[in-house]
Amino acid sequence: MKRKDVNSSRMPVYREAGFELYDALTTADAFRKETEHSREPDLYIYSRYRNPTVVSAEEEIMKLEGCKWALLTQSGMSAIDTALSIFQHGKETRPWLFFTEIYGGTISFIESVLKSRRGLDIQYFTPDNGIYDLNNFEKVISAIKPEFVYIETISNPMLIVADVKNIIRIVKKYGTKIIIDNTFATPWLYKPLNEGADIVIHSVTKYFSGHGNLSAGVICGNDTEMMRSAIEYRKFVGHMLSPDDAYRLQTQIQSFELRFSRQCDNASKLTGYLNENPIINEVWFPGLKSHPTHLIAEKLFGNKGFGAMITFDFDGKDKSEKRSRRDKFIELVSEKIKLIPTLGDPHTILMPVEAVWGTKYPEPGMIRLSVGFEYYSELEGTIGNALKAIEPL
Ligand code: PLP
Repeated sequence: MKRKDVNSSRMPVYREAGFELYDALTTADAFRKETEHSREPDLYIYSRYRNPTVVSAEEEIMKLEGCKWALLTQSGMSAIDTALSIFQHGKETRPWLFFTEIYGGTISFIESVLKSRRGLDIQYFTPDNGIYDLNNFEKVISAIKPEFVYIETISNPMLIVADVKNIIRIVKKYGTKIIIDNTFATPWLYKPLNEGADIVIHSVTKYFSGHGNLSAGVICGNDTEMMRSAIEYRKFVGHMLSPDDAYRLQTQIQSFELRFSRQCDNASKLTGYLNENPIINEVWFPGLKSHPTHLIAEKLFGNKGFGAMITFDFDGKDKSEKRSRRDKFIELVSEKIKLIPTLGDPHTILMPVEAVWGTKYPEPGMIRLSVGFEYYSELEGTIGNALKAIEPL
């Protein structure tokens, strides 16, 4: 029986591995066109190549990022791998320059795969006192002429905001491309492709899907040749998102702006509250004047918000007191605020920084919060009660 068109307002889940191609002529035509790697094929062939439900979800992301194409992958990491593959040309590949304050999984990928296995020439650029010095950056770019520079708009867990506009201006002067991981900022705060960035990637697992229930990534851009190269790589290595996840994403992403704007509001309010508490030593949030990149954040994001991540640090007479305050806090809030190693979930969740990053950040009392979109009063109540109970320690 052939599928009849039904009056559904949504793209259904097309679960087939292979699509019907009817006869030899149509098959030859479909395979020939496939080599052109157009964004949306006329005829689908095989779901690892392209799938209509995935294309439909990609169009939702194109609207949000305001870009010409978006390609979904099964994880943020596979989006990163796909994005980088565009700039790998065998022995001709020039150095790749990565800012150091990027997701730890990306650093592991660079070290274990790009350097150790693929033998690529990887260079790093480090911030000074929580801010990237762009004079030094320009010197490095002009000296090593990298193929591309890779940055995150807002870093993790110190929430350093990169001066994206000026970084793009500098790289363009030297014919270097730029890839930006915009997961923490999201297009609601900032759209780097509008400023001339070449590629933007996201861990869709986070704010775009927003419910902690699927794993996905996306690579976005405007340049057609880059799109073709990325489509080809995604197909050959099999990084394609599943149609079921694309369907759920296409639904969940409808509420992205509502969710994220509320998460940003909650985070801004909570930061003020945490900042006044005597047992908290320091709060890192780009919306605070004390944050080293506050002025850059204001310039980039205007008055929309500063993201929904907060890192703070328990005070104490020594490391042991700081750790015991941290642990007591985690225990006291655990009913409402769970320790879950992701971010962008509906409810506020937390991570103890030392347990993940070891000694990279020397203060053992540090906690990273991914602020949710629950009622603010409920969130402040949970955190306020825990802080009051800890004070007498
Ligand atoms: N980029 C950032 C900023 C992340 O935080 C993460 C994961 O935490 C990733 C990329 C990787 O995404 P995924 O876990 O979806 O592969």
